[in-house]
Amino acid sequence: MRSYDYIILGAGASGLMLAYRLALDPYFDDKTVLIIDKVKDKGNDRTWCYWENGKGEWDNILTKVWPNIIFGSNTHLKTFDITPYQYKMIRSENFYNSLWKTINEKPNFTFVEDDVKSFKDEDDNVLVKTEHADYVGKKLFNSIPDPDIYYSQNKYPVIQQHFVGWFVKTKTDIFDDNTATFMDFTIPQKGNTRFMYVLPLDKKTALIEYTLFSKDFLEISEYEEAIKTYLKDKGIEDYEIVEKEKGAIPMTSFKFAKLNSKNILNIGTAGGWTKASTGYSFNNTTKKTKSLIRFLKSERDLSKFYKASKFELYDLIFLDVLANYNEKGSAIFSSMFKKVNVKTILKFLDEETSIPEDLKIILSVPPRRFMQSLLKRTF
Ligand SMILES: Cc1cc2nc3c(=O)[nH]c(=O)nc-3n(C[C@H](O)[C@H](O)[C@H](O)COP(=O)(O)OP(=O)(O)OC[C@H]3O[C@@H](n4cnc5c(N)ncnc54)[C@H](O)[C@@H]3O)c2cc1C
Repeated sequence: MRSYDYIILGAGASGLMLAYRLALDPYFDDKTVLIIDKVKDKGNDRTWCYWENGKGEWDNILTKVWPNIIFGSNTHLKTFDITPYQYKMIRSENFYNSLWKTINEKPNFTFVEDDVKSFKDEDDNVLVKTEHADYVGKKLFNSIPDPDIYYSQNKYPVIQQHFVGWFVKTKTDIFDDNTATFMDFTIPQKGNTRFMYVLPLDKKTALIEYTLFSKDFLEISEYEEAIKTYLKDKGIEDYEIVEKEKGAIPMTSFKFAKLNSKNILNIGTAGGWTKASTGYSFNNTTKKTKSLIRFLKSERDLSKFYKASKFELYDLIFLDVLANYNEKGSAIFSSMFKKVNVKTILKFLDEETSIPEDLKIILSVPPRRFMQSLLKRTF
């Protein structure tokens, strides 16, 4: 059995970004890297959006950038100019192709298309079993999620950000392609946190996504009916559906770092890199993979990579409230967007705010349920 310095399980956003950074840095030229994924060519399997202050690393592969975002609810509807932030979109195929191009040029990288069945830390090395072979490595980075791990505990609630999206094309100019609708809660909430997310690519084309933060999935027809109704309410009836997208992103404060060991680090969604309170993880993955490269040069125990942060407590309290009072999402977000500068909100969600800025956010939301949850978690 051939042994590798690094084995990366999963070549999606986090696994591929890590491989790409290893390929770019000459420090790792003498390290052998094995990447295993059950599907190499995933095409446009997802659309990633994130906001960023100014220019960013992926700007040359962006599909679209918006300087404005809309927040809407029955009590608060506003368009915000988020400069110096920008809301950015990458279609995954551009991302995969661009990163693979760099990785494929490196002779020390090997890719295997296979289904990973198990992996374990054997102290001196790691052992990976796939459907067709076994592999040995010194360090392993796992991005294959195992939902059983967080669904088999009940200390931390698990809700999902689940959605169905349609790329629609209209005959006439309809969309304002300078403005992305970040959250539109003006739709029936039906006891949940439900909103529309609208991303215009040009004046005739937009991705319309019906999104919920809730525990239970819906029938596909229910998401699709909601999109149809939303378009009709906006006076958009003459359109063609050019593509569809669906997805679910786990939102939980489960302590993923507990799963790490000396030679195994869980990364991406599997490593808790998805922000528990929003489901966003692309930008965080950009930051985490950068700091992971620095960390790897120290040749330390991988379980030491994780650093606790105050934002974990904020997310935990927020998710407790959302899990127990799922109908409150619209009121909570409305109150926040009404009272706090949108740039402070974006900075807070990026986990870059100071304590005084955190307080602005904390004091902006209706306090009762948050206090209850905080007291429950504290005592
Ligand atoms: C449709 C969709 C849209 C999203 N949009 C956004 C967004 O706009 N902004 C944002 O910040 N986040 C978004 N997310 C959340 C998050 O950014 C993505 O899920 C992101 O892809 C997570 O990266 P990852 O590396 O953890 O997992 P993935 O990118 O899913 O990579 C995991 C890889 O593991 C492979 N794999 C799985 N099982 C096995 C197995 N048994 N053996 C071998 N390989 C296996 C898969 O093929 C995949 O390539 C979205 C998620 C989805 C699903």
